[in-house]
Amino acid sequence: MMLLTKKMIEIRSLLQTVGQSESLTLPSIVVVGSQSSGKSSVLEAIVGHEFLPKGSNMVTRRPIELTLVNTPDASAEYGEFPALGLGRLTDFTQIQRTLTDLNLAVPEQDCVSDDPIQLRIYSPNVPDLSLIDLPGYIQVSGYDQPTELKTKIAELCERYIKAPNIILAISAADVDLANSTALRASRRVDPRGERTIGVVTKMDLVDPARGAAMLNDKNYPLRLGYVGVVCKIPQTSGLFTRGGGNITTAITKSENTFFSAHPAAFGAESEVTVGTSNLRQKLMHVLEQTMAASLAGTSVAIQQELAEATYEFKVQYNDRPLSAESYLAESLDAFKHSFKGFSEQFGRQEVRRLLKQEIDQQVLNMLASRYWNKPFEDLAVPLPEAGSLKDLPTSDPENPIWQVKLDASSSALTKLGIGRLATGVVASALVSRIDQLISNSSFAAHPFARQAITEASSAILKDLSYDTADELEICIKPYKFRIDVTPADWAQGRQNVTAVLKEELRTCKIAFQVVENEVGGKKKLRDVITFIDKVRRGDIVLEGDGAGGAGGFSAALLSIGREAVFLRDRLDILDLRLKAIQSRQCNNLKNKYYCPEIFLDAVADKLTSTADLFLDAELLSKFYYLVRVNGPS
Ligand code: GDP
Repeated sequence: MMLLTKKMIEIRSLLQTVGQSESLTLPSIVVVGSQSSGKSSVLEAIVGHEFLPKGSNMVTRRPIELTLVNTPDASAEYGEFPALGLGRLTDFTQIQRTLTDLNLAVPEQDCVSDDPIQLRIYSPNVPDLSLIDLPGYIQVSGYDQPTELKTKIAELCERYIKAPNIILAISAADVDLANSTALRASRRVDPRGERTIGVVTKMDLVDPARGAAMLNDKNYPLRLGYVGVVCKIPQTSGLFTRGGGNITTAITKSENTFFSAHPAAFGAESEVTVGTSNLRQKLMHVLEQTMAASLAGTSVAIQQELAEATYEFKVQYNDRPLSAESYLAESLDAFKHSFKGFSEQFGRQEVRRLLKQEIDQQVLNMLASRYWNKPFEDLAVPLPEAGSLKDLPTSDPENPIWQVKLDASSSALTKLGIGRLATGVVASALVSRIDQLISNSSFAAHPFARQAITEASSAILKDLSYDTADELEICIKPYKFRIDVTPADWAQGRQNVTAVLKEELRTCKIAFQVVENEVGGKKKLRDVITFIDKVRRGDIVLEGDGAGGAGGFSAALLSIGREAVFLRDRLDILDLRLKAIQSRQCNNLKNKYYCPEIFLDAVADKLTSTADLFLDAELLSKFYYLVRVNGPS
């Protein structure tokens, strides 16, 4: 009789493996209960092992799709996590640890995840059953639990307790059934009590007569009835410590002792159902009935899926014969082809572009900290009167301060650690491009293949990067002592840096615009800026630190205002420096102290040229070669 459930469970497992579709869901028993209702204890009593995460802080954050497979001829009991590729875990503490880890992996801010954990348990002692354990309803959010947790858990449970699923509503006997969160939830979706099984736990904690009355509850009568259990796992015997031997016998024995001690309440005449073994029988029976009722619907859904898949196959493969081997071979060929295309296109040019971008940014940072910082007197070229270029440049070229400044800046640039910086930039670009290649390949749908390719390429890159970074640093060593900039380098640098500064100017303008919109318009921003300027000049003295706002502006507005002031100053300086660079004086290498931007760009260019040549030969070529030799074949 129970063959149907077994077959349906096999079908479910197959569907899980190939990726189950939304339209094809087989009925399950969904277990709901509030925290501490004894939900875990009931599930563990059915399985015969302690395997669920414990601890007062341990809120289950993901549904567990628990499939129990009865293996009458085997003696071993074990679990497997098919989606993780973890099979034959005979140690139930390891299953418990894995579930704990999977739970903890849900980010705090997400509270709960509706991505189910699939766990299968094979044992001669379990019935064929498929159960879904949901996070326990929480009554009061703990001080360290996000407040939305309660709502999110309720929403998650709501999705699962829909028809045709059977609801196993767990309530503790020491709490009035009218207050049971689980029964309240199931009553909302199953008002006539047609697909809910009520489980009353902790029967030992209430007066037997009262316990028996609960099982005959007339307030919310259930067609499938209530079952009373005592699932307290006996801790007295050393045999039954966590994760150890099977606990079914011990629980049954202590339950029998309890229930038979109160024959008036729980005896045959009382017509109530009690005990974990009766609960198991009931679950098997009900699941079988529900599966049978859903057979016709399931068969139609499978036919539809099949027709869909056949059509898909026709489109993709033109009805060519397809086996696992040929699919893998084809996927590999396609991936190799795309990798080859990528390696032809990602060469020295691309490396140069990436490096230049990175080093330009470093040059900008250096200029900002060494030249463009206020007070303006520190600038190589003092600020002219607004809009006037007549004073450009006026600094004394003989003054050694400008020489020292430029020497220190170019030396800082050569000593940035270009070896590591450049190797790192190129290596991480390679990793992300390969990730894109995988995403666009058929391996995107196969997490293990994806992980294997990513790990292999990252390992090759990691190995190569250490040596490459060191050797590149040696290559650029001469520049640390002397840099010869020719007039041609100068002209090129002038052109480059003009483009870089223009781009920076454009970005700053956009950022300023964003700030303006954030504040709510030009006028408001101007008022804030005027106020901040006055404070900076000392025209206005703030009382206190202004942390709570000042001058009629909120603290948040002042902080945005300070960002605007920074951007405005940066725009002024960039504008000024662009004019300086384009001026006649900066046309000549002799005036290099006036035009540090050009000189530093020329230095950056030399570093980039050395690095791109070296990285192309040492990192890219070796990487492409090693991937071809060691890569998937
Ligand atoms: P969950 O939070 O709903 O999963 O609840 P647990 O299964 O972890 O049980 C909560 C507490 O109630 C634990 O300390 C259990 O030992 C205890 N408990 C569970 N079932 C029974 C029972 O039938 N009788 C008694 N006395 N205690 C129980």
